[in-house]
Amino acid sequence: MGFLAGKRALIVGVATDRSIAWGIAQAMHREGAELAFSYQNDRLKERVEPLAQSLGSSLLLPLDVGSDEQIDSAFALLRRQWTHLDIVVHAVANAPREALTGSYVDNTSRDAFRAAHEVSSYSLTALARAARPLMQGRAGALLTLTYLGAVRSIPNYNVMGVAKASLEASVRFLSADLGPQGIRVNAISAGPVKTLAAAGIAGFRRMLSQVAAAAPLRRNVTLEDVGNAAAFLCSDLAAGITGEILYVDAGFSTVGMSFAAESEG
Ligand code: NAP
Repeated sequence: MGFLAGKRALIVGVATDRSIAWGIAQAMHREGAELAFSYQNDRLKERVEPLAQSLGSSLLLPLDVGSDEQIDSAFALLRRQWTHLDIVVHAVANAPREALTGSYVDNTSRDAFRAAHEVSSYSLTALARAARPLMQGRAGALLTLTYLGAVRSIPNYNVMGVAKASLEASVRFLSADLGPQGIRVNAISAGPVKTLAAAGIAGFRRMLSQVAAAAPLRRNVTLEDVGNAAAFLCSDLAAGITGEILYVDAGFSTVGMSFAAESEG
């Protein structure tokens, strides 16, 4: 029996089979969780539906996290199908493409700042508020995805780094609020993974190669690495962990300096 047997999880953020949320869904399914998926729009529904079905899930909810009405109706639909919910995975982020390149000071407009924070940060709080009634009396767990750009400047990551800093702070405030109700809130700070969202960041391929060269494990992380850590954090095995940012990055964030692999020895 898997360590998530008997748990019900809503997965928000599957776009393709390369999405981090998909790696998480696969690990959670393997460990026995029952899954529901959301999709942002009809175009994505066509992609998400067969993926969900391949994991035995037919519960698909339309949900643009930028809309309070859609959040309300998605959770109302979920409540009609499931009387309770144990896990919410929040794996969404978005910022205007022109803000994810070049100079932070020149390319961060008021609109880009607002849009990035609304979708990539505020949405976690909105989902937590909607999920809370369904998690009463359960050992609930919320999980979000963040990146090193929240705590260090990273070329081109720009306003998304500022939004991730806000997201990480939200994890701490939400965990303080929801902990007394038995709901845990954590984040995984994942190393770079080639996904649709990542393709929007200028120079992403160089990020991948620099991490692989400098990280203690000398490689990039996989969907499986992140999925397994997520399944653990949302399980009762992690019952004592909340408000935490867990780095799943092949150790890259722990390194102060690294010489290129070819000059080692
Ligand atoms: P992904 O496959 O492109 O997934 C991002 C998802 O967010 C997509 O399904 C996207 O839908 C969705 N989304 C965007 N705006 C939304 C909205 N308003 N409502 C609902 N869904 C929305 O990319 P990913 O890399 O797996 O990203 C998942 C999370 O991991 C993000 O928070 C990202 O910042 C984080 N992360 C990624 C990396 C990396 O290197 N890939 C590293 C660390 C953290 P659309 O495609 O329609 O926009």
